[in-house]
Amino acid sequence: MTTDTHAGGDVRLTGISKTYGSFTAVHPLDLTVPQGSFFALLGASGCGKTTTLRMIAGLEDPTTGTVHLGDRDVTDLPPHKRPVNTVFQSYALFPHLDIRENVAFGLRRRGIKSVKNQVDEMLELVQLGDKARYKPHQLSGGQQQRVAVARALINHPQVLLLDEPLGALDLKLRRQMQLELKRIQTEVGITFIHVTHDQEEAMTMADTVAVMNGGRVEQLGAPGDLYDNPRTTFVANFLGTSNLIEAEVVESGTDVVVTAGGGKLRLPADRCSAPTTSGGRLLVGVRPEKISLAHADDASTIAEGRNKVTGRIADTSFIGVSTQYVVNSPAGAELQVYEQNIERDPRLVPGAEVVLHWNPAHTFALDAAQAID
Ligand code: ATP
Repeated sequence: MTTDTHAGGDVRLTGISKTYGSFTAVHPLDLTVPQGSFFALLGASGCGKTTTLRMIAGLEDPTTGTVHLGDRDVTDLPPHKRPVNTVFQSYALFPHLDIRENVAFGLRRRGIKSVKNQVDEMLELVQLGDKARYKPHQLSGGQQQRVAVARALINHPQVLLLDEPLGALDLKLRRQMQLELKRIQTEVGITFIHVTHDQEEAMTMADTVAVMNGGRVEQLGAPGDLYDNPRTTFVANFLGTSNLIEAEVVESGTDVVVTAGGGKLRLPADRCSAPTTSGGRLLVGVRPEKISLAHADDASTIAEGRNKVTGRIADTSFIGVSTQYVVNSPAGAELQVYEQNIERDPRLVPGAEVVLHWNPAHTFALDAAQAID
């Protein structure tokens, strides 16, 4: 796409908040979205992500705070004066216009007569060149959503806002469109801010994810970092499944040693997002796919230095690529284990005594004062 509107700078929210009467939908928030990034606002229904997006779009007036695009304060600008465009879940295409005219709409409204080249370029970008003369109802949901994206991008916005744009699509199409939107963003290079409640979607598409909960950003980071190093129980549980075990610190140094799950566990100090003074309480976490399962009879074959917890298999479910085990530890913790089905041990059935073991580097720790969500 030929555009010089990239040069817009970061999106910067400073102290932005929104209250409706006595209800605070978004608590004062500071957030910077780097220019050219694919940024996701992720959270459950009602967490304030759409309200945040609408304040960037100018569709909602903030109660406090400012919105900057680069050096420009756009807080008081109406939506149509901001260099942003929004794609909604409902594509809102004009049913009586063909695809070409739908995409051309924004240019025609601005009085631009010669639109052919730009429309061709956009249709090519979203790979719908051969559907230019179709009407919206002749396209699939995913194709219609691509028309909506083309229609928004033709105005060369500095930022594209996407409000649950894939929410109406079935799972398979949604997965395809996630990759497609990612490709389009890489190609055009402008900032995309994407609102979704689907953690897998946010992780697949975004460079940076802001996890929102109760009108606040709980944690911000690259998808892999959020997954590996959650700092709150909400983030640990919202992004995939976590095993969280109550623990007490017994040794603190470069490595922290805790008593947990009936034994001692070790983890790197830099993976603890809570104080690690001796006697302090923590919640120790490990992702289910990081854990290996050994039958208790094979316990002596487990390598030295691994974190180990004993338990009894309560349940198993075979889900093709992996088998999921629920294991009860004598200390009362219920732990999930996902094992790849490479060589399944036929002894690992409900009732079997097992040892769960994993690399200490895959362990993280959270503040035990938090409620487990
Ligand atoms: P969803 O995915 O369901 O859209 P969300 O995270 O995008 O959720 P928001 O739409 O931002 O959430 O809404 C945040 C909270 O603010 C919700 O509790 C909602 O009921 C409330 N809210 C939003 N708009 C208004 C309004 N105009 N008046 C009163 N309350 C509102």
